[in-house]
Amino acid sequence: MREYDVLVCGGGVAGVAAALASARQGMKTCLLEKEYALGGLATLGLIVIYLPLCDGDGVQMSGGLSEELLKLSLQYGPGQIPAAWADTKADRPQRARERYQVQYNAASFMMSAEEALLREGVTIFYDARLSAAEGYADQLKRVAIETKKRKEFIAAKAFVDATGDADLCYFSGEPVVDDPTNRRTGWYFSYNGEKLQLHGQTDPIYTDIPAGSRLYSGTELEDISQHMVDMRRMIRDHVMQLRQQGDKNAYPLLIPTYHGLRMTRRLDAFGFSEDAHERVWFRDAIGMIGNWKEQHLRYSIPYRCITGVKHTNLYAAGRCASAEKGGWDLTRVIPTCAVMGEAAGIAAAMQAKTGKRPGFEAVQNEVVSRGGLLDESLFDRVEEP
Ligand SMILES: Cc1cc2nc3c(=O)[nH]c(=O)nc-3n(C[C@H](O)[C@H](O)[C@H](O)COP(=O)(O)OP(=O)(O)OC[C@H]3O[C@@H](n4cnc5c(N)ncnc54)[C@H](O)[C@@H]3O)c2cc1C
Repeated sequence: MREYDVLVCGGGVAGVAAALASARQGMKTCLLEKEYALGGLATLGLIVIYLPLCDGDGVQMSGGLSEELLKLSLQYGPGQIPAAWADTKADRPQRARERYQVQYNAASFMMSAEEALLREGVTIFYDARLSAAEGYADQLKRVAIETKKRKEFIAAKAFVDATGDADLCYFSGEPVVDDPTNRRTGWYFSYNGEKLQLHGQTDPIYTDIPAGSRLYSGTELEDISQHMVDMRRMIRDHVMQLRQQGDKNAYPLLIPTYHGLRMTRRLDAFGFSEDAHERVWFRDAIGMIGNWKEQHLRYSIPYRCITGVKHTNLYAAGRCASAEKGGWDLTRVIPTCAVMGEAAGIAAAMQAKTGKRPGFEAVQNEVVSRGGLLDESLFDRVEEP
């Protein structure tokens, strides 16, 4: 049986951050990915906008691997960091004028992410679908993956669920919440021989479902399959519309090869909330974020969002971390996925070294020593774990 110190399941942004963080702690790290490239929604799903690392008031909230991955996404271009954030001498009022976010190229990001993991010595298994988990008492011991030849088992001392859909949490019997109310989406690029254009096609998220459309589960076979069909129909209809509107040569050049569903299934451990936890400093904070929808808002993310409930050597990061529905709308975006992935990778690595789940202070110290941002003075209220 294959054995590692840390096993990261899922190679989206959260999984990439977790694997990098674990490997940089010197741990023998393996990352499992069912597709054939890294990035998940952020590459195969063509969601190519790295939302802000700042609060909109000129204060940087997320650093560490969240910032490193933003830069990595631009490594092979095109795209650039906004001027006020690239300029190390820019002051807060200058930085308040533009948010620290970028549009990147999915192909560049999937290549640079893979290179970064290989540089750190991470073993990447593609075409490796996690299908079961086994443990004893409060410890996960090994997972099963489906390969072309057989079911294989991989053992580890600590595990990170970065599958986006909380597959590892689900298979290991952790409490999970399944949300069947995903809206239809279909981000794609059109080309007309001259101009390449990104179209963020989606049914509206916060208002009524348009006539003729529907909601989708992210864990039911029929719903996932129907969404892929409906996504491509949505894109096809939009291309026809572009042509009717005069862009006669427009055609779909790049369409998503990933499910495009926002909030599918998550760990049910702590109800991180968009409203109730704004400006709350969690004593066990492992990272900080802004709010991509609005300026002036700040959040800290508690360790409790990423720690398994039943299994003390399991961490959840990215879309599958714990939050209530509103909070999920913040924890699911790319910069937050990286923030949580880094903390989960650090915690898992520490656990692999000591055999015990590290306390939040130890994780905080390591997050900060790695360039992560944690600053209680930016918050109004303190909440104890
Ligand atoms: C329509 C839409 C628009 C969005 N817009 C933005 C935006 O503008 N900016 C922004 O920052 N965020 C945006 N988001 C959110 C963001 O893109 C994602 O939530 C984020 O990229 C999720 O990262 P993740 O690593 O948690 O999960 P995912 O990207 O879902 O990655 C999970 C990975 O795990 C793999 N995996 C899953 N199950 C298994 C298994 N059983 N075995 C092995 N591997 C497995 C998957 O193949 C995938 O690679 C948007 C999302 C959607 C759907």
